[in-house]
Amino acid sequence: LIAPDGAVRPTIFAEMTALAQQTGAANLGQGFPDSDGPEWIREAAVRAIREGANQYPPGRGIPRLRAAIASHQRRHYGLEVDPEREVLVTAGATEALTAAILALAGPGNEVVTLEPFYDSYAACIALAGARHVTVPLVPGPEGFRLDVAALDAAVGERTRLIVVNTPHNPTGTVLTGSELARIAAAAVRADAVVVTDEVYEHLVFDGAAHMPLATLPGMAERTLTVSSAGKTFSVTGWKVGWASGPAELVEAVLAVKQYLTYSGGAPFQPAIADALEAGDGEVAALRDSLRRRRDLLAAGLRDAGFETVVPQGTYFVCADAAALPDGADGAEFARSLPGRAGVACVPVSAFCRAGSEAATALSSWARFTFVKDEPTLRTAIGRLLALR
Ligand code: PMP
Ligand code: GLN
Repeated sequence: LIAPDGAVRPTIFAEMTALAQQTGAANLGQGFPDSDGPEWIREAAVRAIREGANQYPPGRGIPRLRAAIASHQRRHYGLEVDPEREVLVTAGATEALTAAILALAGPGNEVVTLEPFYDSYAACIALAGARHVTVPLVPGPEGFRLDVAALDAAVGERTRLIVVNTPHNPTGTVLTGSELARIAAAAVRADAVVVTDEVYEHLVFDGAAHMPLATLPGMAERTLTVSSAGKTFSVTGWKVGWASGPAELVEAVLAVKQYLTYSGGAPFQPAIADALEAGDGEVAALRDSLRRRRDLLAAGLRDAGFETVVPQGTYFVCADAAALPDGADGAEFARSLPGRAGVACVPVSAFCRAGSEAATALSSWARFTFVKDEPTLRTAIGRLLALR
């Protein structure tokens, strides 16, 4: 395998989930819910199978789902996208991100991401043959915040793409209007395209507001917005995602997507159209329940001796294990924790480039997910308390 900088390697999520299964650990590693999405949404997929949605859907996605995505963007954010030309359904957000990076970046280009970053970005940038440049998110009293000076230094004439992720995995940061404005200004200055990964768009807490980058002045014409049904409706295994934005960007993504999967799973598409049209109540309930579980886990981690940064969104809390026994090296800590304590997590270094400033600063940090039921979280907390 051509893996120019080691970015294409077995994902940390598969490794940590396998370790959790082998050891019987509470799996606070890979971010997937342990209770499925609403029954009426699942029934809609079953009905679609019975009613014959079993052959290839159109490559762009079924018209009803594209219309529901366009209507979601208008209703929540006032963004107008044409469901015929400016919306593309993909096999999860992962495929939209992969196809976008492969379509839009290549040798000689730089792709800027935040750091830590969701692991697939680095792999796709490496597969595209582009250079990966990162901008740290730095922990402090206001949470993990964008290093704006580093952003301005990172974005330049070789920058082809800026990949933004808000709400952010793994830190839980919801980028503020002023952070987004700095990113927008940098993109305009460098004439770069922005791909924004907003899969946690509805999972924000404490009055923090998710702001799509495409809503900033001058950004709609250079921004491809990516999201997914997996997190919003607790159906991560359905792999229904989408990209929306200017027709020429969507066409570029489609050009690659046709040769990755051609199309996504047919029966899930009408079910997600139903969910987008009528599922706001369930999403609000999920958000409330996640906020309670976030508070439970963050308090438990603090009691167990971690320094935590309470996230404003997502499924994840990042915690510094430096003060715990064997906590100085986050990667070693995460790999030994399932066997030692019966809890799985993910080292934050897995979301960093080896040797980077962020990797060094976050070398003793681990990410824990709170998208598990309360008994599982309480069991995990009890086991972590016993480590002290
Ligand atoms: N982006 C981020 C930030 C994620 O955390 C994930 C995984 N949950 C994805 C993309 C992938 O989403 P999907 O499962 O829809 O492919
Ligand atoms: N996005 C999930 C996480 O961050 C995992 C997705 C995956 O396993 N690729 O934990």
